[in-house]
Amino acid sequence: MKPFIRNHQYNLIKKQAGMVQHANTSVSDRRVAESVRLGACAAVAEAFPDASKEQLDLLGKLADLRTTEEVDGYLLSLEPYLELFPQLSPKDASRLFPKVKKLKTPDFAAIDRRFLTYAGWTDIGTGRMFLVYDLDGKLAGVEGRFTQARKGVCFLCNRHQELALFSAVSKVKPANASPDYYKAFGQYICSDSEACNHHIKDVAALENFFHLVLG
Ligand SMILES: [Zn+2]
Repeated sequence: MKPFIRNHQYNLIKKQAGMVQHANTSVSDRRVAESVRLGACAAVAEAFPDASKEQLDLLGKLADLRTTEEVDGYLLSLEPYLELFPQLSPKDASRLFPKVKKLKTPDFAAIDRRFLTYAGWTDIGTGRMFLVYDLDGKLAGVEGRFTQARKGVCFLCNRHQELALFSAVSKVKPANASPDYYKAFGQYICSDSEACNHHIKDVAALENFFHLVLG
């Protein structure tokens, strides 16, 4: 079996596994526990609409998890099937952001690509934020202004966190637009991209944002 689990799907499985373990050990009402198990299996299956029987069998072991050791063992057994985020070098990043002079990048080699849905980093000096995502099979980059904001809900991982307001100017211009036309799209996003990547469970909002900005 080849890798087939993306980071955001792994995060979803992790959350559901924790819920099943809790239901199997702490919920005394059997029907309630059963409904949690069924709900978890349905949520995971829904995240893998194209999964083979073999893949679903592997994922379905989640229903029996009782101890935290079993949860850890289950999650560990899935790790060989995690898909890697594409390799990214400073050169690739420069190509994605050709207008940015002296682009600062993180140490991509030090990042565990198994646990990455998007690469995100900031350049505090210039107040810019950079996101890279594998959009429809091709690496795409969105950069924009980064303003430290209040606590709130991140548009990607939906957690209540320290946020930044990320505002990116759209690359899309109407045919008859004046030369100074511009349209920006803003979103509240985790300041800590690494933590965000450990909790993002759905890529729809991320993909929508990339499509909005890049056209
Ligand atoms: Zn987040």
